[in-house]
Amino acid sequence: MARTPEALERDRVLCRLRSKKRNERKSEFLGMRYTSAQAKLYRHLLFAYVCNAGHNQCMRCGEPMTAENMSIDHIEPWFGVDVDLYWNLMNVKLSHKNCNSKYGRESGSSTPGQ
Ligand SMILES: [Zn+2]
Repeated sequence: MARTPEALERDRVLCRLRSKKRNERKSEFLGMRYTSAQAKLYRHLLFAYVCNAGHNQCMRCGEPMTAENMSIDHIEPWFGVDVDLYWNLMNVKLSHKNCNSKYGRESGSSTPGQ
């Protein structure tokens, strides 16, 4: 039996509400927003892989990085230039957050959200 479009929409809304409730409970348990915790976990996982590969030196200054001060740095500025430059992995290296933003200021390529 086919469901009506209204019933399908009601199911979608209920599913979103349940998902939101689940994430709220996870946030409460973690003591931080669940999406922030996921981003932090991804950061630490990436940093573990970077260290295992022996690539935890900043591309700008050459000094070692930590999981907290590591940032994704675009070699060619992407913002206002080309969306593909943002996603192109060949255009991405890792650097300290400070080195990344200092380079952005000096080159005049403000790239918010990096
Ligand atoms: Zn650096």
